[in-house]
Amino acid sequence: MENSTIAAIATPGGRGGIGIIKLSGSKALSIASAIFSPAEAERQARAGQSRSSNEESGNGFKSHRLYYGHIYDPEKGRVLDEVLLSVMKAPRSYTREDVVEINAHGGQVAVNAILELVLRCGARLADPGEFTKRAFLNGRIDLTQAEAVIDIINARTAKSLFMAAGQVSGNLKSQVELIRAYLIELLTRTEAGLDFPDEVAEIVDPRTAIAEIQSDVIKPLQNLIQQHVEGNVLRDGLKVAVVGRPNVGKSSLLNRLVQKERAIVTALPGTTRDTIEETLNIKGYPVVLVDTAGLHTTDDPIEIFGIEKTIESIKRADLVLFMVEANCALTAEDHKIIELVKSRPTISVINKIDLVNEDNCVDIPDDWASIDCVRISALYGHGVDLLKEQIVETAFGQNPIDIEDRVIPNLRQKLLLEDGLEATQAIARELENGLPMELIAIHLQDAIEALGQVLGTSVKVDVLDQIFSRFCIGK
Ligand code: GDP
Repeated sequence: MENSTIAAIATPGGRGGIGIIKLSGSKALSIASAIFSPAEAERQARAGQSRSSNEESGNGFKSHRLYYGHIYDPEKGRVLDEVLLSVMKAPRSYTREDVVEINAHGGQVAVNAILELVLRCGARLADPGEFTKRAFLNGRIDLTQAEAVIDIINARTAKSLFMAAGQVSGNLKSQVELIRAYLIELLTRTEAGLDFPDEVAEIVDPRTAIAEIQSDVIKPLQNLIQQHVEGNVLRDGLKVAVVGRPNVGKSSLLNRLVQKERAIVTALPGTTRDTIEETLNIKGYPVVLVDTAGLHTTDDPIEIFGIEKTIESIKRADLVLFMVEANCALTAEDHKIIELVKSRPTISVINKIDLVNEDNCVDIPDDWASIDCVRISALYGHGVDLLKEQIVETAFGQNPIDIEDRVIPNLRQKLLLEDGLEATQAIARELENGLPMELIAIHLQDAIEALGQVLGTSVKVDVLDQIFSRFCIGK
């Protein structure tokens, strides 16, 4: 393992109350003591007293202590900032290495100057996610927990945060470990059966093994895979596409929902030429709204591009808001659009109800009866709260399950769980058909390997690099 000492600014750029420079590695403490002057020692020096304790001098820092003092540049003899310095000695730290965090004032110049000084003293700049990668490589967390750290940082709503926090504390890890432990135990027995062919039926009783595989492996794996489908929305947001003819009010609705003038609203058809995405929080769910170019027949190449994008965003959407005008009869184009969207979960949104009364509001045809319908005025805000409720209901049902408490594998983990499931289903079939134990042992190894990759026990370097490159520097 590489034992260089890494350093980075852990707080976001810009002005702020504090800025944190973080160090991890074998030289973290000696670098800190070379550039940190404890206030207590300074006070004693001023009073001409000898120091009662040299705990803060040299490398005599105590672990899990906060020290108050100054960072100074020893070469230039100049104080850079007044700081609080926290020390966490290996192995009781985030990375399991010696870690020092310097809490400086949050001006970019101050934190940059301290980082530069730390680098001059022998640290090197950390790569994105390198602190968490070290926590993983040093065995403090498994890969599922490391991946959840990025989900915490990227959490879009409180629900997303609770889900990621559960995963950091190891709830996916413990489930996968349990399944894998059973498979390892079954492999051990299968291999024993290969050594003692006469006793194989006693060592691995096919009927019992099939029942155990069903209940202890196949079912839990299927549940985890299903939870990926349901819960991924908390990680990536529910993708909602707003579609309709030009000028029905799609951009106005987007503005109303996000409460700002992000999309261009004009009375000219075809102004929203490209798609616009906005993330908002609807009842705790992260919702990514996509305002699309109006779907209508056109020869304008720019608009054609926009329409193609619309069709693409309908395909990618988890939910479609199909908008029509309350004050205009439905057109052939509206019918064409409904054909495009009706295979997707859809809400029809009748906009501009401020322009009509009950009698002259557009009629919705009977064959749209299965589609949830909400009447709104995007311009004045009528019905918009109802629409938000309908979005949650159509997407998650009337009693949305509390997915924040569930274990939600990410895409990488889901694909590996699927590999594990496929191999285990093959094992069940082979046991059922009385196929040779050698074949069963191979599929058991495949399943164990796939689950090991979820946990990171046998993961390739390039996969690790790809996972950690999604982090920010300083985490
Ligand atoms: P888009 O092309 O579908 O994005 O439509 P816009 O949001 O640009 O709106 C087209 C026109 O309809 C603009 O003049 C809006 O002010 C107007 N409009 C949008 N929603 C409403 C509404 O609820 N009531 C009324 N009266 N006008 C609206």
